[in-house]
Amino acid sequence: MSRTPGRGDADDGERERPRVAALVPAAGRGERLAASVPKAMHLVAGEPMLVHSVRTLAASKVDLIVVAAPPALVLEVEQVLERCHQGAQLLVVAGGDSRSQSVRNALAVLPDSVEIVLVHDAARPLVPRVLVDSVVDAVSAGAEAVVPGLPMADTAKEVDAMGRVVRTLDREKLRLIQTPQGFRRDLLDAANAGGASEGDATDDAGHVERLGKHVLVVQGSAEAFKVTAPWDLRLAEALLAQRHLVG
Ligand code: C5P
Repeated sequence: MSRTPGRGDADDGERERPRVAALVPAAGRGERLAASVPKAMHLVAGEPMLVHSVRTLAASKVDLIVVAAPPALVLEVEQVLERCHQGAQLLVVAGGDSRSQSVRNALAVLPDSVEIVLVHDAARPLVPRVLVDSVVDAVSAGAEAVVPGLPMADTAKEVDAMGRVVRTLDREKLRLIQTPQGFRRDLLDAANAGGASEGDATDDAGHVERLGKHVLVVQGSAEAFKVTAPWDLRLAEALLAQRHLVG
């Protein structure tokens, strides 16, 4: 594990004892991008995808960022992020074989002072700072678990293994769920204790739901989309170019 202090840490008590942490699972291979580098290190607008997320998290209400990197790239990731986390402390740990294991590896190094934990996919490089802060605020205001969600524009149908429609779902009741997802630290610890997070949950809130806890949905953002296929990379490039023109 490597540790890099945030700017101004020496005279900033809040930052010395971080209260809000963001875990960034970034150890995926990104096979659907068909690239030679792990997805988080894939260049978007000239910088590794991970850099964009870390910069946004560091500018938000997050005090500490813990990145779970591909095990062979821990030092490289630390070097790449050295100058992009001003405003927050940074730790880089080795990720695991599954996303859940990467999250557990990051959770394991949190200092005792941390009360609120966000989990944010490195593969969502355009997440807006206001979305990160709204998740932190919702947990600070008393919610145990918070996820950003978007209403669905398309019709959703359940299908069987043969690709035949089983039923049409009521899209008014459906939400597309993104990251960052935010949790009270004790709840996320419990959800990940003793291998409880293994299984078929595809996000962190899924593990918490299994404990019977309520999960609050706050308004998500179209910009927090996940880069999965080459098309998503082109979209991310175009949006970042536009942000630079406006900014
Ligand atoms: O595979 P998918 O794109 O859904 O991954 C979501 C996030 O989980 C990505 O940021 C990826 O780097 C991360 N991940 C991880 N460790 C793994 C697999 C995925 O940190 N073993």
